[in-house]
Amino acid sequence: MKYPNALLQLVRSLARLPGVGPKSAQKLALYLAQHAEAAETLEQALRGVRERVRPCVRCGNLAEAELCPVCADPGRDHGVICVVETPGDLLAIEKSGEYNGVYHVLGGALNPLEGIGPEDLRVAELLERLEGVQEVILATSMTVEGEATAGYLAELLKARGLRATRPAYGLPVGGALEYVDEVTLARALAHRRAFSE
Ligand SMILES: [Zn+2]
Repeated sequence: MKYPNALLQLVRSLARLPGVGPKSAQKLALYLAQHAEAAETLEQALRGVRERVRPCVRCGNLAEAELCPVCADPGRDHGVICVVETPGDLLAIEKSGEYNGVYHVLGGALNPLEGIGPEDLRVAELLERLEGVQEVILATSMTVEGEATAGYLAELLKARGLRATRPAYGLPVGGALEYVDEVTLARALAHRRAFSE
């Protein structure tokens, strides 16, 4: 059986999304092709995200205004910056409810094998916003790349006389922060310690 071309294109674009396998892509596409209302709602939501969501000019978090809700909140401690790799990691820490400082989203981790260097991440932007900051928490992933990124940043911060800490994750699990459960994350943040090689 041959699918209509438009449907095939939808299956292909859905299958490219993270966490969607070919089978679910097909299932979703068939559903959307048969339910006009669901397709329209999805279309509107996608357009809304594309048109209105952009990086926060200060921290790189996802925002609908110039500043994200965290950066715009005067109740947060703007003297503590928590550095994370992705907005997903930031959300995970927010959900833990343990943290009241602000964030800096790097946009990934250093990865020489894939050609990702400091200039590909928001490192310069971090160094530009250190005035009045007392502590920088390096909450990059517990992967080789995440550890290397934390080490690299700790050196830069030390040279500027700033205190860098790293959450006490306990045993390295080699994964992204956003998949760590909230209790573990809260504990890791509460027991952060001075960064050392
Ligand atoms: Zn922000």
